[in-house]
Amino acid sequence: MRFDTIVVVDWSARSAPSPERPTKDAIWIGTVRDGGEAEATYLRTRHAAETHLVSLLERERKDGRRVLAGFDFSFGYPRGFARGVTGSDDTLALWAWLEEAVEDRPDNANNRWDVARRLNALFPGVGPFWGCPAGEASAELPARGTERRGHGLPERRRAETLLPRMQPCWKLYTTGSVGSQALLGLPMLHRLRQRFGADLAVSPFEPPERAIVLAEVFPSLIAQAIAARAGPDEIADRAQVRVLSEALARLDPARLSGMLREGDTEEGWILGLGHEDALVQDAPLAPPPLSDDCFALPPGVDWTPVEDAFAMLRARLRPVVGAGIVPLGDAAGRVLADDVIAMRSNPPEPNTAVDGYAFAGSAGQGAEVILPLVEGRAAAGRPYAGTVPTGHAVRVLTGAALPAGVDTVVLDEDTRADGARVAFRGPVKIGANTRKAGEDVVAGGVALEAGRRLGPADLALAAAVGLGDLPVRNRLRVAVLSTGDEIREPGSEAGSGQIFDANRPMLASLAARWGYEVIDLGRCPDDRDELRARLDRAAVEADAVLTSGGASAGDEDHVSALLRESGALAEWRIALKPGRPLALGMWGGVPVFGLPGNPVAAFVCTLIFARPALGVLAGEAWREPQGFDVPAGFEKRKKPGRREYLRARMRDGRAEVFKSEGSGRISGLCWAEGLVELEDGERHVRHGDPVRFIPYGSFGI
Ligand code: AMP
Ligand code: MG
Repeated sequence: MRFDTIVVVDWSARSAPSPERPTKDAIWIGTVRDGGEAEATYLRTRHAAETHLVSLLERERKDGRRVLAGFDFSFGYPRGFARGVTGSDDTLALWAWLEEAVEDRPDNANNRWDVARRLNALFPGVGPFWGCPAGEASAELPARGTERRGHGLPERRRAETLLPRMQPCWKLYTTGSVGSQALLGLPMLHRLRQRFGADLAVSPFEPPERAIVLAEVFPSLIAQAIAARAGPDEIADRAQVRVLSEALARLDPARLSGMLREGDTEEGWILGLGHEDALVQDAPLAPPPLSDDCFALPPGVDWTPVEDAFAMLRARLRPVVGAGIVPLGDAAGRVLADDVIAMRSNPPEPNTAVDGYAFAGSAGQGAEVILPLVEGRAAAGRPYAGTVPTGHAVRVLTGAALPAGVDTVVLDEDTRADGARVAFRGPVKIGANTRKAGEDVVAGGVALEAGRRLGPADLALAAAVGLGDLPVRNRLRVAVLSTGDEIREPGSEAGSGQIFDANRPMLASLAARWGYEVIDLGRCPDDRDELRARLDRAAVEADAVLTSGGASAGDEDHVSALLRESGALAEWRIALKPGRPLALGMWGGVPVFGLPGNPVAAFVCTLIFARPALGVLAGEAWREPQGFDVPAGFEKRKKPGRREYLRARMRDGRAEVFKSEGSGRISGLCWAEGLVELEDGERHVRHGDPVRFIPYGSFGI
């Protein structure tokens, strides 16, 4: 059984969030989907990493994809330890014990020294855990390993005796220590086990025939390959997760399954130990990211309803671009590659929403209230330093942090003040006119979800919760090509029988509006060799191709003919007007959307099909355009069997449609401000009947 996704996690025992700028000795997660290149993600806290992992695993499980997740800390301890703690040799019961004992906050603050002392106390003598900052050291947790005696446990696991350079898990502090990472990692793994239940197995304690398998990994097993394959300035931890996840993804599935069963079911085992050669072999990289039968239709299907076409696209497409980190200021319009976890609450502290006077709410409950004022005031950015005594009030200005001792604000306009006292009518509701810390977003929570195209509001939120950089998908590269012997370059000469290329500028500008990098493949005559050469170029330079024209089944319909020839065509006769047919196929591993030549049909098909499909390829969640039910300002009879889109606009609260449905009338696209969607069945629309209007804005144009 093969894995669809390989994840490798470099864990960290830091006690505070790691810096915003990606760095070493922090949490890095490498993810490889379908044998492609790894995506490396940097996370500042264990909490953020856990959220990331949970959402990744949930997503893959939902899509029916099998995941192997490797973690670089020991899953177990030397023989006898689990029994000494829980009374049983079951290491997974030890995980549960640790999950109970360890407290690990969203900002990485944790109680691991206490937990180590508690564990040591369960064994005679001194140890086995050792290593801590000077202030924490005592006989219960010695600072030096040599101070330990009589705890009765082996120093190393069997796997570790084979790897002398690996540090024993008892060492919790200073150079190269891994013990703290396990103490702070195993509780997280236990929570994953609880969450995913029978869908998850832990190697080698449980058989690996499950949708999600967790395993211990040790990147240094392939240290040389990592050094050889790391980028020139690549952060070491990043290179480790990237190279190891790619190496695991390239392994023969049967061999990997065998490795997952090996080892010691009490102490745990390091995945791949003894198989280093297999791990570093230079097997060919990555099959094409999407399979050639990606667009295949079930046999015998004649006309595909629009909703079925959507469902197939949704199920088969997935992101084909990698990700990186960019400064917040450059992230507008990009697709968020990971959930954004709030590093700081918004607002970070309680503050006042108005100019006025703040006091402890209990003092403002009478009908007429007069309170003495303390000296000084609180303004935004200039907090009041002292504590306001109960029964006193302090001058506050909008945005100021609430001084200690107060929780309620009365509005300026509702008061009289003489410099020494303030008078107002009560009772004032406790907490009035204040904003609570975190009332918008709480630190550690998900502020923005992966798959979102970042808009101005998203940048504001990401900035407010403390981010300076954002993980975004690389821009999808979309190639645009027009086909047809009759097509001439806009602005050039055109003779009889010739027309100007209207589709290419339109498609290129749609793709650019949607945030993609446009690759102009120009015009191509109805010549199969020439077209083949253009598509070959597109397969190298682009992530997706939009062609127009030549998509039907006629003699001069070379786009469909070529895709058919390559074995990767699906002629999607979608039951939609205007628009049929649409040729969807794969060329050199790159999806090709063969749009109709007709500009109106090309436009509608691009909005309805290519837009959500490109979005998924670019890393976005599938998006349906938002429509509104409005009264019709027209009358129309429609036959059953296909969905129709009419060029439309809103006037006087009603949807008007363009005077002609002729699919060559480009002016109607300009006249319109959106589309009216008429459902697949038969319909007689009369004036005032509700119809669904989808403004152009809902398509992001
Ligand atoms: P086809 O799908 O190639 O049969 O083209 C259908 C109709 O669309 C024909 O009338 C073509 O001339 C027209 N057409 C094809 N490509 C373009 C284009 N790039 N710009 C404007 N019209 C086009
Ligand atoms: Mg043509």
